[in-house]
Amino acid sequence: MMELPNPLSHAYLITGGGGDSRAAFAGRLAAAYLCEGDTPPCGRCRACRKVGKGSHPDLSRTAPPPDKAEITVEQIRALRADAYVRPNEGRRKVYVIDPADAMNPAAQNALLKVLEEGPAYAAFLLVSDRPGKLLDTVRSRCELLSLPREDALPGPELLERAETLAELLLAGDELACAQALVELELSKPKAEELSALGVPALAVQADVAEEGQVVRMVDNVLEKFCQLDILLCAAGVSHLGLISQIDGDQWRRLFAVNVDGVHHCCRAVLPHMLGRKSGSIVTVSSMWGQVGASCEAAYSATKGAVIAYTKALAKELGPSNIRVNCVAPGVIDTSMNDHLSPKELAVLGEEAALCRIGQPREVAEAICFLASERASFITGQVLSVDGGVIV
Ligand SMILES: [Zn+2]
Repeated sequence: MMELPNPLSHAYLITGGGGDSRAAFAGRLAAAYLCEGDTPPCGRCRACRKVGKGSHPDLSRTAPPPDKAEITVEQIRALRADAYVRPNEGRRKVYVIDPADAMNPAAQNALLKVLEEGPAYAAFLLVSDRPGKLLDTVRSRCELLSLPREDALPGPELLERAETLAELLLAGDELACAQALVELELSKPKAEELSALGVPALAVQADVAEEGQVVRMVDNVLEKFCQLDILLCAAGVSHLGLISQIDGDQWRRLFAVNVDGVHHCCRAVLPHMLGRKSGSIVTVSSMWGQVGASCEAAYSATKGAVIAYTKALAKELGPSNIRVNCVAPGVIDTSMNDHLSPKELAVLGEEAALCRIGQPREVAEAICFLASERASFITGQVLSVDGGVIV
């Protein structure tokens, strides 16, 4: 169980954990403010017992009304009026708002006043799984308490799914990965299952060719995590055929996913990254974007565009401390090369100095490096991960 802060601050934002563990933690914290014993919360004194029963007159809880999804400004005004009436029994008054992200902006602004100027005896516990929905001004007035995920240990069924997912990730089968993640996200209970994988995770499906879907995806991420450090643009499609055989729709779809998709994702994260003057973007091109492939003119053109886009963006965003780099994989053992026979793959492998094709993990390592702080002085670069085809 997470230890309570000591001394107690006047406002906390309680996040992480699961819905139940957040509420339980808020309860313990409320008892700590109001406890009359020597080691708050003692759990035995009159005040602790009343908090446990929910009958302490100096503890109030605010949630959306039964018929509404939002906490209204009227509710917060009532809370504010109450906060200026001195405590009934104890030395403090405690206000639990759960879920705090249900407050609409007007309600949040009303709360901000009492957070900033309220009486010293008033304490505020904002409980939220989506702290990104809170105004920066409200968040900045609260100390953040992020609960660990230890309370949600995965069951055997979940472990199996996590293992499957890990295998799919290793195999680099992006579509299967996305499907598995989306399935996990859609199954109930969503957040608890995902968090039980051991890391706070969120799966959102979007067609990168559609800017509206990308914007919603990024909004979802920011709502959940408040912060976005790394963007990896890995969505891509290919097309094999003579240049005379590709039709207009196929040509446009390749550019829509491979080029527009990268642009949409970068644009969607930029306001946030520019605001923080920090961020790392990694795009995925291809060695064919560097040297061109026969029967893959359209694909080569899109991947060449990604390289030029990466370099241009690196120059534009460098002054804002945002790095933009590109990885150009060679022939990698992924589903994109399923149309090739083992013999054809072997022939392609022989063209590499290392005499073999690559594994998805070897591309992932290069991406992780460029995305990380280890590459803090590297931007605008194209890192070939092709076993030495292009040297
Ligand atoms: Zn007590």
